[in-house]
Amino acid sequence: MFTLPPLPYAENALEPVISANTLSFHYGKHHKAYVDNLNKLASGTQYESMPLEQVIRDTAGKADKVGVFNNAAQVWNHTFFWNCLRNGAGGKPTGRIAQMIDSDLGGYDNFKKEFANACVTQFGSGWGWLVASGGKLAIMKTPNAENPLSKGQTALLTIDVWEHAYYLDYQNRRPDFVNAVIDKLLNWNFAAENLSRA
Ligand code: MN
Repeated sequence: MFTLPPLPYAENALEPVISANTLSFHYGKHHKAYVDNLNKLASGTQYESMPLEQVIRDTAGKADKVGVFNNAAQVWNHTFFWNCLRNGAGGKPTGRIAQMIDSDLGGYDNFKKEFANACVTQFGSGWGWLVASGGKLAIMKTPNAENPLSKGQTALLTIDVWEHAYYLDYQNRRPDFVNAVIDKLLNWNFAAENLSRA
């Protein structure tokens, strides 16, 4: 059975950028529902005892497995997203990832502009991503539950841009949510850990 991992901080830890009310619904209702739905769909199938990442890779792009894929990927995406956020973080990184942002993405200011743009221009529900691919950093966006795992890329950071991620706090102002997360919450230590495994 798949389980809902504990939130890595208190529900009010990301205020004022993300309210406790938003995090309570986002984690306690949305993320939990993906876990519950995955367990229902996987029960009695080959997926019930498979590692989550393998479920995602095995079901990606298969029309008859779309329900399992969507819920498995959303479980993974949300667990990953919580770890991408830390109170008092955000802003310019240092170290190897900063050097790669300079060489691959034209510097931090250009990274910020392009990452925010990917998040803001994802039409409808989805995710903005910083990934490592072929030894270089890249920015991408995915619709709905899709993520970089099934594309052979390593996710370094993500921002959830489904409306449930920001609507209670920002209503339709997705750019304000995205820029506040980039400036105040992005957990570059987590990104560096992910990069070291890429
Ligand atoms: Mn979400």
